Amino acid sequence: MLYTPADVGKLKAEIAANRLRTINPDIELSTITQRLQDDALVAAVQTSDVVLDGCDNFATRFQVNDACVTAGRRLISGSAIRLEGQLAIFGPDFNVTPCYRCLYAEADESLDSCAGNGVLSPVPAVIGAMMAVEALKYFAGIDSKPSILRLYDAAATEFQSLKIQKRKDCPACAAIGAK
Ligand SMILES: [Zn+2]
Repeated sequence: MLYTPADVGKLKAEIAANRLRTINPDIELSTITQRLQDDALVAAVQTSDVVLDGCDNFATRFQVNDACVTAGRRLISGSAIRLEGQLAIFGPDFNVTPCYRCLYAEADESLDSCAGNGVLSPVPAVIGAMMAVEALKYFAGIDSKPSILRLYDAAATEFQSLKIQKRKDCPACAAIGAK
């Protein structure tokens, strides 16, 4: 929704920020255009109230999750592939609620990529709008319960909600001493 063919090859963060400033001139935005990992990623998450993860690869998703678990921050995770979307809300108290790694292990064979499978372009827009709603609700104190996975089936025009359980052998939860 934020990009046009003229933006191909440019920095996504910069293009998105410029587009959002056009939509809402009162908004304050700062962009980070280098790859964040390890301590730098945790530091960036620590300065945030909420993290929205809409990235396109699982290596990044696991790292962002681990940083949110370490920093104790709300994680709103959205993804889309083919005609399916997912929205899940995690934390911020990972001592009692599950994390993204409780839902998906790195060895899971079901971890598909959009590049290999394609995605119907409005589906990420639906999920992205839902992520924005959840972030604004969190700031407004109208909080959704975490630990629910919402599945959007665009082919059937149906939503399904599943409870996410804490995984006993989750390495991210174990790292903060959560049971
Ligand atoms: Zn976990």
